[in-house]
Amino acid sequence: MLQLKNVKKDYVTSSETVHALKGISISFRKSEFVSILGPSGCGKTTLLNIVGGLDHYTDGDLVIGGRSTKEYKDRDWDVYRNHRVGFIFQSYNLIPHQTVLGNVELALTISGIGKEERIERAKRALDRVGLSNQYYKRPNQLSGGQCQRVAIARALVNDPEILLADEPTGALDTVTSVQIMDLIKEISNERLVIMVTHNPELAEEYSSRIVRLLDGEIIEDTNPMSDEEEAAEIAAEEAALAASEAEPETPVASEIEDKAVDAPAAKPVKAKKKKATTEKAKMSFFTAFRLSARNLLSKRGRTAMVSFAGSIGIIGIALVLAFSAGIKGYIASMQDDMLSGNPITIGETAYDLDAFSGMIDNATKTEIVKEANRIYINSVIEYMAKTNKQAQEIIIKNELTDDYINYLKAMPSDYYADLMFSYGININPNLFTDITTADGAQRLSIQRITDMYTQILSKTDYADLSYLIPMLAPSIKQAPSNTDYLLSQYELIGENSKVATGVNEIMLVVDGDDELSDLLLARYGYYSQDEFLKIIDKATADEEAPAPEGYRDSFSYEELIGKTFTYYPTNSIYEKIDTSGMSPMELMISEKMYPSGYQYLSDASDISAEGIELKVVGILSPKDGLQFGAISSGIYYTEALTDYVLEKNADKSNGFMSFLADDANVDKLAISYNEQSVYGTIYSFTFTYDHDNNPETTNNHTGMSVVTYSSDMSSMVSSMIGGGESVTFSDQRDMLMRTFGGNDHTNNITIFPKSFDEMYLVSDYLERWNEKGTISFTLDGKEYSIADTERNEIEFTNTLELVIGLVNTMIDIVSYALIAFTSVSLIVSTVMIGIITYVSVVERIKEIGVIRSLGGRKKDVSHLFNAETFIIGSISGLMGITATYLISLVVNLILRPLINYPNIAALPIGNAIFLVALSIGLTLISGLIPASSAAKKDPVVALRTE
Ligand code: ADP
Ligand code: MG
Repeated sequence: MLQLKNVKKDYVTSSETVHALKGISISFRKSEFVSILGPSGCGKTTLLNIVGGLDHYTDGDLVIGGRSTKEYKDRDWDVYRNHRVGFIFQSYNLIPHQTVLGNVELALTISGIGKEERIERAKRALDRVGLSNQYYKRPNQLSGGQCQRVAIARALVNDPEILLADEPTGALDTVTSVQIMDLIKEISNERLVIMVTHNPELAEEYSSRIVRLLDGEIIEDTNPMSDEEEAAEIAAEEAALAASEAEPETPVASEIEDKAVDAPAAKPVKAKKKKATTEKAKMSFFTAFRLSARNLLSKRGRTAMVSFAGSIGIIGIALVLAFSAGIKGYIASMQDDMLSGNPITIGETAYDLDAFSGMIDNATKTEIVKEANRIYINSVIEYMAKTNKQAQEIIIKNELTDDYINYLKAMPSDYYADLMFSYGININPNLFTDITTADGAQRLSIQRITDMYTQILSKTDYADLSYLIPMLAPSIKQAPSNTDYLLSQYELIGENSKVATGVNEIMLVVDGDDELSDLLLARYGYYSQDEFLKIIDKATADEEAPAPEGYRDSFSYEELIGKTFTYYPTNSIYEKIDTSGMSPMELMISEKMYPSGYQYLSDASDISAEGIELKVVGILSPKDGLQFGAISSGIYYTEALTDYVLEKNADKSNGFMSFLADDANVDKLAISYNEQSVYGTIYSFTFTYDHDNNPETTNNHTGMSVVTYSSDMSSMVSSMIGGGESVTFSDQRDMLMRTFGGNDHTNNITIFPKSFDEMYLVSDYLERWNEKGTISFTLDGKEYSIADTERNEIEFTNTLELVIGLVNTMIDIVSYALIAFTSVSLIVSTVMIGIITYVSVVERIKEIGVIRSLGGRKKDVSHLFNAETFIIGSISGLMGITATYLISLVVNLILRPLINYPNIAALPIGNAIFLVALSIGLTLISGLIPASSAAKKDPVVALRTE
């Protein structure tokens, strides 16, 4: 039984308060057909909506089955609408994008009933209203009468106790109206039907009771319930409840759950307890998902457009990430190659690379407070002084102790391909080879040949560049002794070519194009003096002019291999001469300047001692694709020769080595140094410079040169230090000592790590030396244990790690900047999706009303829209990722041959997943406001909206 007790309803608008219902009191029987008649605006719909729990009364009470609804919460109303009331509207309110079956199913879907049962029950309801063969049609394919039948089936599918119909035939023709009325009449046999109409004839004909309404008040009731009838119905309801409580199979779990739901109205609930235990209005998120998917599918075009727009931002970010990852991969792939060209080095003098950047920042002058009307001094001197000070701070003196060298030797050998110790030796003054000059066939030192060519160039158009010769052309160096390592990077060319291993063996390394520089070949005596002059001629001549006769542009392998050199120990190339009684000036005038008392013998024929013969045994050429090798183009000797040089010059008891070793002589070097270049040896040579093959410009020259002892090292250090602290004369002496192989204590160590991973192991190993604690290791069966107090910090230079780190940081910075940039489009698309979702809410406002009238919770409505944005977000994300992978594919196909690397654009799968999640997250956020506004929509307002 349904009772309205003095129900009032006021609508408060901004301008006035409408009293739509002014105190309605009426009871309805369990089963009867009530028609409510009245003029438009008298409150019929309002009454019906209140009875159906769609709208809430302002005052009074609605008693349902003996239970007051005053304490009802939203959830109770939802359950009530879903299970106990069925609505039929004048305008059918079918959901256009669902099939007939889907529309009917909706009420069951909302209650969370399983698919099979749902379909079966929906079909039964449709069969009942005579639509057995229209299950899969869309509402727009049906006539008005058929639509109303669908609406009736939907209202009945949950088997409600009350059917509420608001002008169900209002939009139908007479014949159809009659059919619908017959159907409703039939339904009223088993339940309460309350129908609003303004057609008195239909009401008279079909209904068992007519209630007339005027201005919100009942003015007539043709068949009101008597008090006895009411009492009897209450008694029947209580009896039914008692019977249900006796039923043993009432599920306990659902009781407990529903007690919570029904708690506020626990006292009068008894009457309807049985129903309450089984009633639940619950739609899963998955159902909401399915409903939204169907809605989106019905608007395929728009969904695709929105998703595409949303995907653009994702594509942007994904591409940036793809390239950033790809480029990092590319760099990583080059790392092993770059590694051999950038070994880890530890020198006596190292540069603190970290301090470089600090130097730029810190070299600022003291800030001074400035007064107006004065011009202040910008002290360049102060700036220079500070810069210089800092420049010196970046130079680190490493003390390469025996302990440290042993520690390096004890490093696990699988970390490195080669561990090379250097001693600062420059063998050029000691190395002699055959050369044909204007003075005939000679055997001169490399030092002298280099000097001769520098002099020759200084007399040509290239005078300004002549000083570059000793710097440009690499001098002869020691090669790593790991033959396998060399052969992994280089191939041998030429017959009988091999890697130099013995003390007598040297090798040539050509560059990637199988070339060697003319300066290198000239310095090492491969050209005759005449041939060298031809090179200058060719360079000076017009471009079209034919190469001068005798010009050499290539050498055969045989001409390169087999050339011999002789190494003479230092003492044998310096001859003691008697300078007693001669002042430095006299010596200079006499063209015999030997303040040291020793004359440098640059011509082998003057040397009486035996030298060791060195022979070129092989030519190495970098393998294809090698960008950086362990050794660059040049001439290389073996570790064995280094050992030989150290051994031969170890004895400092006599000759020039004893002069160098004697501290007392440091002063002599000092005098010489101050008087510039006087501690060298003068020699003269002649040459003819035949410019442009023109006899008139042909000049005969006599060159005179001084061989100085300055080593590459000293010039480098002094240029690094700049105007600052100069190299002291004892430093100078030490360097000379090293140049001549007189110091067997290493001053430079080069480590070629096996691969990039090992590089980190090596740097960790080197780092450990600088950490606290005692270091223990075993070398050649001997145990070493070195406390931290016995160790000095040793800086090492790992250029590659520094460069790679720098490059990766750069890539990161650029990536972040680009991502920030593309994020703007992501924000734009997020806002756009929010707007479109809002439009969708407006469009689906009727549907929202229907869902609510069928008992759908507010949560269900917001789920519906969240599911929609979730789907759009997923599609956008997946579209974006797919597009990115496709673009990457094309870009990679195009770039693959150009950069010789397979995937320069490679989006990591983790990033892809993250971006899809980001897309979903952002669209979900963008849809939150529209979804919650949809959920808050008043169902009554929603249904009234046209
Ligand atoms: P009927 O269905 O009998 O034509 P209604 O129940 O729809 O009448 O409306 C009753 C009265 O309440 C009318 O005067 C109508 O203008 C007013 N009314 C209905 N809904 C609202 C509302 N949401 N806000 C303000 N007034 C309303
Ligand atoms: Mg109405």
